[in-house]
Amino acid sequence: MNYCSHCGASGPVLEIPEGDNRPRFICKSCDTIHYSNPNIVAGCLPIWGDKVLLCRRAIPPREGYWNVPSGYLENGESVEEGAIREVWEEAEAKVTIRGVHSLYSLPHINQIYIHFLADLEDGQYGVGPESSETQLFSEEEIPWQEIAFTSSVFTLKKFFADRQEGQQNTHLGVYDYPKKDPSK
Ligand code: ZN
Repeated sequence: MNYCSHCGASGPVLEIPEGDNRPRFICKSCDTIHYSNPNIVAGCLPIWGDKVLLCRRAIPPREGYWNVPSGYLENGESVEEGAIREVWEEAEAKVTIRGVHSLYSLPHINQIYIHFLADLEDGQYGVGPESSETQLFSEEEIPWQEIAFTSSVFTLKKFFADRQEGQQNTHLGVYDYPKKDPSK
C-alpha cells in the first residue's frame, strides 16, 4: 500500500496494531488501520425443469469457460440481492431463491463463494455483457472439462447428488490447493 485511502498520506506501514495479533497497514498521519478481508462472491444455480442454467464467460479470468452465474457482492446489498443481480447481469434471467446451496472457501485467494439454488421464474434467459453464451444443461450435458472454477464444479456435483437422493442440502467446501512441500 503506497498511499492511505483515507487521508492520502504516503507510506502506510505494516505493523501489528495494539491488541491485535497480525500485521495491518497503518497510516501514521491519520491513524487509520487498513483492514483487508476476504471478498464474497455471490451467485445462483438457476433451475428449470431437470436442467440448470450456465454462462460461458466472455471475460477473463477463464474466458470461454462455463460458470454458475456469480460475481462480487457490492457494498449496500444483501447476499441474496447480489446473487439475483448477478444472474440478471450474466444471463438476463429472473430467479426466485430456494435457499443456500453451497459455501465454498478459497483461503489462498481470500474469496468465499455463496451459491443459492434458485428457480428460473419464467424459463426466459438471454446473454448478458459478461457472457458469450448461456445455455440450459441436463446433468448428462454438463461440459465438465470446460467449467471455469472449482466452486462451480462443487456446486454442480452437490446439486446433482442431492437431486438423485431427493434432497436439498447446504454444503461446505474448501478449495484444497496443493501446499508447498517444506522440504523443497
Ligand atoms: Zn491516512
